Amino acid sequence: MKIFRRYMHNNLRNYNYLIGCERTQEAIAIDPLDGEQMLQLAQQQGLKIKMVINTHEHHDHIEGNPTIVAATGAQVLSHQNAMERIPNVDRGLQAGDLVTLGDIRLRVLFTPGHTPVHLCILGLREENSNMTQDVLFSGDTLFNACAGNCSKGGDVDDMYDSFVSQLMPLPDETLLYPGHEYMKNNLAFALSREPSNQTAKDWQAKVDALTPDDMPYMTLGQERQYNPFLRLHEARIIEGLKKEYQNLGQGDRDVFKALRKLRDQW
Ligand SMILES: [Zn+2]
Repeated sequence: MKIFRRYMHNNLRNYNYLIGCERTQEAIAIDPLDGEQMLQLAQQQGLKIKMVINTHEHHDHIEGNPTIVAATGAQVLSHQNAMERIPNVDRGLQAGDLVTLGDIRLRVLFTPGHTPVHLCILGLREENSNMTQDVLFSGDTLFNACAGNCSKGGDVDDMYDSFVSQLMPLPDETLLYPGHEYMKNNLAFALSREPSNQTAKDWQAKVDALTPDDMPYMTLGQERQYNPFLRLHEARIIEGLKKEYQNLGQGDRDVFKALRKLRDQW
């Protein structure tokens, strides 16, 4: 499995991904916004796009579908509950489904929160290859240093449940491929909640001069060191929240929701 990331140079700062099988030269496009660009990329790499997977129904994650389908006849896949929201979906997916193409194996995670039909895709490590870790295509659920918003048809309680049940249990070495480039901005928010987090400061300094095309690929283990939404037990974060929410509840869910609320207003 070979993964190509393309930054879309748009205001929403989308990343598009193409996953290619090196043996069969078949490929899967994830959340295509610019279908033409994905077709060009596939051609340059000698790949044929056979499938499109949409993590959710927002226009910036599906707009490239028709161009790719028209040119390649690719199948469109989404969560089964998104089939009424995304035009021309061929196959509805459920939690736990395995999607395969050549040697590519993708596990479907159901992760509502950003929208009620959002899925994440776990690209499974191939045996006998130099790929040493699973990869997570997280759409708009988990970003570098943040969680996705819940203000465009989503629900923060669902988002918390998705984090706890689906994302937090994944191993540290899992590589993160989010749907947007928001890392610099999100690190600034992370530091506003945890100003003494040296790892966040170090990464902020490292990525400051980088363009979205050059941003690093982070692991979940690294994210756990600075992403406040993965650090719900961190005393410094909780103390800071209590200053703004005197009645902050004791649970992780309360911390998560307070962080998300502050991020919305930030
Ligand atoms: Zn979205």
